[in-house]
Amino acid sequence: MTNGEILAALWSWAKREGVDHIVYHSPINDSEVGVEGWFHPEVMPLKRPQTWLFRSRQPQPHDEPDRVTRPLFDAITLSHEYGHFRSWKDSARGQTPEWQAYFAAAMVRDEDAKKVSFDQAKLIMTEEQRAWDLGHVALSALSFTDWSEFERRREIGVRGHRVNMGLESEGTS
Ligand SMILES: [Zn+2]
Repeated sequence: MTNGEILAALWSWAKREGVDHIVYHSPINDSEVGVEGWFHPEVMPLKRPQTWLFRSRQPQPHDEPDRVTRPLFDAITLSHEYGHFRSWKDSARGQTPEWQAYFAAAMVRDEDAKKVSFDQAKLIMTEEQRAWDLGHVALSALSFTDWSEFERRREIGVRGHRVNMGLESEGTS
């Protein structure tokens, strides 16, 4: 399969499994600039799981997968957000104590990343790695092949969270 086909397959797979909708979304505030994707289990008012792929717009409301512009990048972003969705779904739809502890930590982070305790930061990093691992599983099932790019994105994503929470300084490699 081409990466465009993989993106489209993963997109409909995620929706079949319960992601209510997936859209391309432009950053709406400074904290979203540089963010590639987003998953939330209960977006108001519908309280259903949603995923956004950030991009300075084109595709609209009920977006279809854009197989042309940058399918490899989008497939990797979506696989990671799908990983967060799977993690939530496999944790009794967010009802396990482990997932709730993670989510509480993520809420603190979203308010002010500097207020996250060391233990909360560990929960967040565990969930981030898990989302990459689950994204890896999904892409493997779709015969994805660009694994060096996947690993490069994983490294950037993981480091971004560590820097954001002050676990690592910006310049550190
Ligand atoms: Zn993530």
